[in-house]
Amino acid sequence: MKELVCIVCPNGCKIIIDDNGDILNAKCNRGIVFATEEATSPKRTVCSTVATTFSDFPVLPVRSSAEINKIDIPACMNALNNVLLDRRVGRGEIIIKDVLGSGVDIISTSSMQYTYCDVETPDDGSKDNA
Ligand code: SF4
Repeated sequence: MKELVCIVCPNGCKIIIDDNGDILNAKCNRGIVFATEEATSPKRTVCSTVATTFSDFPVLPVRSSAEINKIDIPACMNALNNVLLDRRVGRGEIIIKDVLGSGVDIISTSSMQYTYCDVETPDDGSKDNA
């Protein structure tokens, strides 16, 4: 018997997979699909960072564009550790295409186009007291 919490929706149903492989306590079909996948080939979205060559933006947050097999996550993290980004990218740009041949891309979740230093500040000493 295996117990797991469904993460598909906020209900968080406690699903049981019994010794016969029957799925119990799922309130909907999405939970059954989730439990079946968890039992056979669990997948997760990967969220991490990659290093860059830019001193004002030394690490860029990234995530996988879809879930990848849980068993492939260490190799995916290894691939991310080997990235040294030398171009400025925007949010949603592909950093690694088809990581590990999974069909899933690693994409930027932040924009490097602007930094805090680029924000213009008033030079008259005025402050916004609103
Ligand atoms: S089984 Fe259905 S209702 Fe329950 S948490 Fe999963 S998706 Fe939500």
